[in-house]
Amino acid sequence: MTNNRKASLLLIYTGGTIGMKVNPEDGTLHPFDFSQILDEVPELGKFAYRLDSFSFDPIIDSSDVEPAIWQDLARIIKDNYDSYDGFVVLHGTDTMAYSASALSFILENLAKPVIFTGSQLPIGEARTDGKENLISAVEIAASLDVQGHPRVPEVCIFFDNKLMRGNRTTKYSSDNFNAFSSPNLAPLAEAGITIRYNDGIIRKPSEWNVPLKINLNLDTRVGILKIHPGITPEVVGDVLCGNSTRAVILETYGSGNAPSKSWFLDVVHRAAQSKILLNVTQCFSGAVDMGIYSNGKALQNAGVVSGQDLTTESALAKLFHLMGNCSDNKEVKRLIQENLRGEI
Ligand code: ASP
Repeated sequence: MTNNRKASLLLIYTGGTIGMKVNPEDGTLHPFDFSQILDEVPELGKFAYRLDSFSFDPIIDSSDVEPAIWQDLARIIKDNYDSYDGFVVLHGTDTMAYSASALSFILENLAKPVIFTGSQLPIGEARTDGKENLISAVEIAASLDVQGHPRVPEVCIFFDNKLMRGNRTTKYSSDNFNAFSSPNLAPLAEAGITIRYNDGIIRKPSEWNVPLKINLNLDTRVGILKIHPGITPEVVGDVLCGNSTRAVILETYGSGNAPSKSWFLDVVHRAAQSKILLNVTQCFSGAVDMGIYSNGKALQNAGVVSGQDLTTESALAKLFHLMGNCSDNKEVKRLIQENLRGEI
């Protein structure tokens, strides 16, 4: 802190493993009363911050997350935006990368930190990773730069000593403490003895005092088709040509390749007349470049749009957001290729 004013943070608990503790009577896990967070993590009291908490009711396992939860989260942040310097969102790990991606698009003109975190082991367990994650997330959310502005005014995930841009992350381990990865962008910060910020890649707003806007329009008519050897014309036809989707994310091989058989390209071509087809790689890291191989070029010629190095989570959230705000598919196809929140 460069001034003496106490930083104030709002901790928002949505649910997930982090908020559980063991019932000593029967050994089962149950959620603790989040308003008592300082009793559970007394270390937080060592910071000279004002920490307030808000708990969703009911709290949820994040595998039950729906866009309505993102809209609620956005409203809570908007309603409290002027009263706090930053926000820490405690969230289950299963869909944290989706929620952080979605919030990055829903929150416009964000100039304060929104740091998602959670844990693999409940906070009430001896070996929990939840305390480390929460304590560092809180410190990061309160951190200011030399001008006195928030150091990380972005939607991020903090997990296992790494601060990552939320819309670049993916959950990649169901049992390691380092459960999240940002395969195409270096961490925004790393926590060791000190927290080392990678200031060169942290996004800052062009103006600090523009009011936060929340854009809650989401069109969820998106399907995902993972290309695989042996995929049949029926499966491809059902997913690409069904009436329930306006866009389909194609998870393709390598740099954006898919079968070159004429039945496949015919279906893709037909679907692309009326739908948005977005190509993302099923590789863990790297980007789509449909200009490298003839199989990729054929997809491009059939009308498929490149998702560049978007994660699937981010591609989904970005489509929900763009389609929710734009009825013209051509315009959505143009905007999906623009870097809106550092997601590309
Ligand atoms: N199923 C839990 C959730 O996502 C797992 C976790 O929190 O890590 O809510």
